[in-house]
Amino acid sequence: MTAPSPPLADRLADVRARIDAAAHAVGRDPAAVTLVAVSKFHPASSVQQAIDAGQRIFGENRVQEAAAKFPALRETTPDLRLHLIGGLQTNKAKDAVRLADMIESLDRPALADALAHAAESLGRLPDLLIEVNTGDEPQKFGVPREQADDFIRTCRNRFGDKLRGLMCIPPATEDPTPHFQLLRSMAHEHGLPVLSMGMSADYPQAIAQGATLVRVGTAIFGPRPASA
Ligand SMILES: *Cc1c(COP(=O)(O)O)cnc(C)c1O
Repeated sequence: MTAPSPPLADRLADVRARIDAAAHAVGRDPAAVTLVAVSKFHPASSVQQAIDAGQRIFGENRVQEAAAKFPALRETTPDLRLHLIGGLQTNKAKDAVRLADMIESLDRPALADALAHAAESLGRLPDLLIEVNTGDEPQKFGVPREQADDFIRTCRNRFGDKLRGLMCIPPATEDPTPHFQLLRSMAHEHGLPVLSMGMSADYPQAIAQGATLVRVGTAIFGPRPASA
């Protein structure tokens, strides 16, 4: 232990402290908020630094990148957990089901079919969140608001308790709080316990609105490398 603690460990500690503070500020137990460290575009060596600093849950948005990075890391850290958080093509469903502990981006019937099919053939099904396009932005992933209730009910019937909750990414240019409130009320209506909302710019606000998972990348790993 001669080396000084690397900046990544300091940034991670800072994020954890802000999570605790945001939870305490609204009378919530910080233990009810899980930090997903979003490591997309960052090398496995950075993930390892976060592991060394005690982080165990990571988020990646591309199946291929996750497949390249995580199996080797799991060899040495078996309690690692991987969340896939990006838009998912149906032809990647099988790899996603094989790799992930949670898929946060279920957003359409064709993907539900592909995941169910993959689960059947692989004999495993990750936990699932439905991504809701709370801003109804045409270019964004997520089930449109007006289709969300039906889609949630259908997936509930199909996947049972494996459907854990909802995820959203508010429009970049808007106050995120109304989007967090909408997602919370939808999850509440459907009796779903997990609310994945809040990124580097807005996770304290998301925690104030009931987030149980926050997905934080830049605040932990620094700016993403341009390529990859
Ligand atoms: C990249 C990403 C994040 C993390 O974003 P930061 O602003 O770097 O914290 C969170 N959620 C999703 C779905 C992402 O793709």
